Amino acid sequence: MSKKPGLTVLAGPTAVGKGTVSTYIRDNYPEVWLSVSATTRPPRPGEIDGVHYYFKSKDEFESLVAAGDFLEWAVVHGQNTYGTLKSTVDAAIAEGRSVLLEIDLQGARQVKQALPEAQFVFLAPPSWEELVRRLVGRGTESAEEQQRRLETGKVELAAEPEFDHTVINDDVRRAADELVSLMGLTPHPH
Ligand code: 5GP
Repeated sequence: MSKKPGLTVLAGPTAVGKGTVSTYIRDNYPEVWLSVSATTRPPRPGEIDGVHYYFKSKDEFESLVAAGDFLEWAVVHGQNTYGTLKSTVDAAIAEGRSVLLEIDLQGARQVKQALPEAQFVFLAPPSWEELVRRLVGRGTESAEEQQRRLETGKVELAAEPEFDHTVINDDVRRAADELVSLMGLTPHPH
């Protein structure tokens, strides 16, 4: 892994655990510059503006879209809008930082159009059965909603060949270490 890409994009199916892997990296790998996205989603308890997301109103987000300020943006789960701001990412790349974007598949495809030289990593579940377990979760959803999630999961898994590398999320720490290696950095001893 001698290549040290400036920009790495991590994407994968819903419920595969992208957020857990990126939180692990935020907490354990300060040498990775983890992009902070803008979103119209309201903050969850404990989330800090500028750390976890830049929380924006719909109007603010639309103005940023109109100004061409996003490297990519997408409506995720048909609900809230999320996007990566060009200015922050460009500055981090220019400083020679190892930049990581944790975004959804639609966003990853847009980055591939804009920056094909970036590295694209697919986070995959250990098996389809495990993804089903994570998608269906605690079984609080209706049978119809579960079916919808499974269909989405199948379509999302089929995107794997679009990516340069696949990392299997069998264990968060192991997956994070593998990702960091792909970024050309040295995983820490634990
Ligand atoms: P959450 O609301 O749980 O924090 O994130 C929901 C989803 O939004 C995750 O799948 C995450 O990958 C995606 N997401 C977060 N930030 C961005 C972004 O800047 N762009 C895109 N396209 N997706 C994002």
